Amino acid sequence: MTQSNAVAILSIGRELLLGHTLDTNAAYLCREVTALGYQVATIRTADDDRESIVAALRDLSAYRFILISGGLGPTPDDLTRQAIADFAGVELVFHEELWQAVERRFAALHKNISVGNNAQAFLPDGALAIPNACGTAPGVDWSGRGTRLFAMPGVPREMYAMFADYVAPLLRQAATSVVFMKRLHLSGVGESAVGEIIRAAAPLSPTAEIGTTVDCLTVTVRVLAAGENLSAAQAKTAAAARVLREKLAPYIFAEDGQTLAATILQILRTRRQKLALAESCTGGLVAAELVDCAGASDVLVEGLVVYSNAAKQRLCGGEGERILREHGAVSRECVEWLAAAERENSGADYAVAVSGIAGPGGGSADKPVGLVWVAVAHPQGEHPQGEHPQGVVAEEYHFASDRTSNRHFAKNAALGLLLKTLATVG
Ligand code: ATP
Ligand code: MG
Repeated sequence: MTQSNAVAILSIGRELLLGHTLDTNAAYLCREVTALGYQVATIRTADDDRESIVAALRDLSAYRFILISGGLGPTPDDLTRQAIADFAGVELVFHEELWQAVERRFAALHKNISVGNNAQAFLPDGALAIPNACGTAPGVDWSGRGTRLFAMPGVPREMYAMFADYVAPLLRQAATSVVFMKRLHLSGVGESAVGEIIRAAAPLSPTAEIGTTVDCLTVTVRVLAAGENLSAAQAKTAAAARVLREKLAPYIFAEDGQTLAATILQILRTRRQKLALAESCTGGLVAAELVDCAGASDVLVEGLVVYSNAAKQRLCGGEGERILREHGAVSRECVEWLAAAERENSGADYAVAVSGIAGPGGGSADKPVGLVWVAVAHPQGEHPQGEHPQGVVAEEYHFASDRTSNRHFAKNAALGLLLKTLATVG
């Protein structure tokens, strides 16, 4: 990383240090700044006090830009302006035109102005005000001590607008290089296996930076390359992605942010086929993920939450009572029959069933917490008969996490097995 494209992010607010607010502003800024060709070198969080903010600014002043969010409001704990003035070694100066803008905004909203709002008309001497299209507090644009800082409000909606309207165009103009990113999304392979493949392929793509992230059974491979302009950066990224695509082909389901659910819907939509669900431990997570994608109704017929044994028995029909008695609700037989019965009842081409023990209670020696069974009933099946219904594939998974994560793992396992089945069954 060169200092010329290094950016520091400073999030201000006690609520962040107390863990009450997740620092989504920093995450947003990281994504945006990276897309503009800069590299975020560090993220710092400061308490709502003058000394902490000044100390952070001193530490971060080696970076070309500092992007600050929070502490611009009218309350006594909003101290960003004063801290910038301290760091700059200047006084705060009252700006009549900013005060009038605050007054106009309050009048337009029919709200009473409070004494504290006065603070929003002050700026460190020599700083420029950044217009706030969505709120009252203007931002601060100040250059000096080898850096340029932009202070924006903590309220995410106001910060996004101020960044997009004012800061991003300035950063774009000042960029000395451009970074381009490509993402490959993988299913059915573990992170360490992907790591091995990437290590072996790295010498073939020396100009790109390659990284991986995992999210409940899916792996994303990120390819980043810098160039003096967009087409140069794109060409380098494309060359590296081509090498990786070849090596990882069997596992890639999508690129650049497309989800597993969206990929599945796309495949089924193209084939004019329908899908139905019978979910137990996921309690509708599979359905919710599919419904998040616009146009899911082309494909998804229904999603049942068959949570109790009685509901499972009812769906399985004649065999239900025996299946549950002999094998239990979390078993190969149970999910196979649920999937087959749901496919039959709904008239869908595919049906997915998932049943597991999410925890923390309910586990036993032979069926521990984290055990999940998934089944997919597909169109090459027959009418269910015998111990294992025809035309159903099933897989067993063991997850070792908390209830929430186990349920998310189970959801992705269900989508992953469906995708795998779609690849082998027409
Ligand atoms: P403003 O300058 O607009 O007053 P502020 O940070 O001083 O911003 P707060 O009252 O602390 O004002 O925060 C306003 C809202 O923005 C709160 O709901 C807070 O949780 C949220 N917020 C503040 N900082 C962040 C952050 N880094 N990421 C996500 N949300 C944030
Ligand atoms: Mg605050």
